[in-house]
Amino acid sequence: MDVDQVLLEVVGEGEVASYIPALARVPADKFGIAVQTVEGDSFRAGDAEERFSIQSISKVFSLMLAMRIVTDSLWDRVGREPSGNAFNSLVQLEFERGIPRNPFINAGAIVVIDALISVLNEAKICFLEYARGLSGNESINFNDEVARSESETGYINFALANFLKAHDNIDNDLDVVLDTYFHHCSLDMSCVDLARAFLPLANNGFSTILGDAVLTRQQSRQVNSLMLTWGLYDAVGRFAYRVGLPAKSGVGGGIIAIVPNEMTIAVWGPGLDKTGNSAMGTRALEMFAQMTQRSIF
Ligand code: GLN
Repeated sequence: MDVDQVLLEVVGEGEVASYIPALARVPADKFGIAVQTVEGDSFRAGDAEERFSIQSISKVFSLMLAMRIVTDSLWDRVGREPSGNAFNSLVQLEFERGIPRNPFINAGAIVVIDALISVLNEAKICFLEYARGLSGNESINFNDEVARSESETGYINFALANFLKAHDNIDNDLDVVLDTYFHHCSLDMSCVDLARAFLPLANNGFSTILGDAVLTRQQSRQVNSLMLTWGLYDAVGRFAYRVGLPAKSGVGGGIIAIVPNEMTIAVWGPGLDKTGNSAMGTRALEMFAQMTQRSIF
């Protein structure tokens, strides 16, 4: 598998996220790619071992954990439909009376995190331990500077959370919920860490690192279906057309893609396109899928 070829052909493009000041300082010319197969092979190129802010990719971990431990129906509080609006849109939430369209828009992730806080004593720490366990890397950590930076400028997320609370869709203290949300988003991981951590979604819910199932086969399919239908926000249709794999992006420039029963591919390129997805990462995944003839379609 020639991941170096993908690296060579992807040229720097897109704009680094600046609405979170601590992210604006990341050099735009970084690029990494890591592949992990269910058989245990791994491939990497470029800045694959450098950690970056995983941002909304963390929303998948929050959901996986909630599907496992939240017993009340999460799906009464958050939908499973594509949104068709920006990831931080307030408009739809008003129309739909405080029920976010899906768990991968900001409002949906805030509800999922509120549900986690209701069942966990230390939701932040449990989440961190969960990500460490999945990736087999105990040194993974939150980036407090990024979390603080986001909390200082996160007016829209505060607005979303207040709106959810007004519609009785937040049970816990708003400051605690948002602090937990910003910390989840601030998690720093490398492409190698991500490719390993997401392997259960390519392996019917089974983690080879933990030697245990972290999701049932059915739940693993369900998470993949949500990634396919809203993992890349308002570019999800184009991404399915170009790449054809379930995936999740974050404004830190990372994208994780799943080839069911075979492998995960993590890419990182901080320059974003207008929809908030890594421009280089999308192109790299498109090339990778074409070169290896992988697609779920
Ligand atoms: N922390 C970011 C926010 O809340 C996450 C957005 C993203 O990665 N798409 O705006």
